Amino acid sequence: MKIVLATSNPGKLKELQTLLRDSDHEITSQRDYGVGDGVGDADETGISFVENALIKARHASRHTGLAAIADDSGLEVDYLGGRPGVHSARYAGENATPQDNIDKLLAALDGVAAQFRGARFHCVIAMVQDAHDPAPAIFHGCWDGRIAEAPAGNNGFGYDSVFYIPDLGCTAAELSASVKNKHSHRGKALRQLRQQLI
Ligand code: IMP
Repeated sequence: MKIVLATSNPGKLKELQTLLRDSDHEITSQRDYGVGDGVGDADETGISFVENALIKARHASRHTGLAAIADDSGLEVDYLGGRPGVHSARYAGENATPQDNIDKLLAALDGVAAQFRGARFHCVIAMVQDAHDPAPAIFHGCWDGRIAEAPAGNNGFGYDSVFYIPDLGCTAAELSASVKNKHSHRGKALRQLRQQLI
């Protein structure tokens, strides 16, 4: 079965193609169908990761006529009532860099004790058979930790350098990609998806 992945990120496409290489499914990019360039990306207007993943999957399916997969992820911080949540990529503004986002987060938690700095990453993957699929498949991975007082580590991306995992005694940016994948929200959601499709 041909499935379209609703992303313009070549890294995410490669990742899913590798994960499903021994399946009967062929993963293609929405870019191959002009979605993301010509047709345009979906507006992520949802207030939850599930809603945004579904919006993107339905959009890709509507414009390609194929089954579609989309993901949405971000960071939920307890002290901030769940923010930045679905706004994680643009927490410090529309054109914010990862460093801007980290600076804003650390400032918002300045002076907050460790026990109140709880946070978790979420990754939701939605899969629809067609644009109107009334029963989409939803896969949800979660990774618990807390926001560090200061950044540590050089690996990863986004908020990794301030996401401290007590069980591992380090931040996500101090983990290798393969160790991160074993523990991460994204690794967990992708393994659920693979189980469904293999
Ligand atoms: P996306 O939905 O995968 O594009 O992720 C949205 C945003 O959430 C990213 O731009 C990051 O700021 C944040 N994020 C999601 N996953 C991670 C992660 O594994 N490490 C650090 N930041 C992440």
